[in-house]
Amino acid sequence: MRCSTCGYELDENGKCQNCGNEAAKVHVMSQEEKEAYHGVTIEEPSSRREHFDSSANNSNRKIYVNTFGLGNSNWLVKISIFILVVAILAFVVFVALPVILVGAAIGIVVWLILSFIRH
Ligand SMILES: [Zn+2]
Repeated sequence: MRCSTCGYELDENGKCQNCGNEAAKVHVMSQEEKEAYHGVTIEEPSSRREHFDSSANNSNRKIYVNTFGLGNSNWLVKISIFILVVAILAFVVFVALPVILVGAAIGIVVWLILSFIRH
């Protein structure tokens, strides 16, 4: 989580070590503030923004951190599934497809030989 005033990374107590601002002052920026702010902003879906706002007290902040950690592991799972799907597609394209093409080629050659014999 970052400081709402200067964008500096907050410590574990939610306090900014750069300007002394605390997480209690964290709020959703207005359009005007967004235009004036040049630091890194975190775009939250509306369902999570409410949670982000309530992170001022300690227990809620822990839940927020836990949810965030779970989100990271889901992200890793998604990447793993993506790699698996790519591996399967690579297998299909580079192994199964040549086998099918060779099989089809053999079939065509056999068919040509048979039709040549008949004539
Ligand atoms: Zn700050």
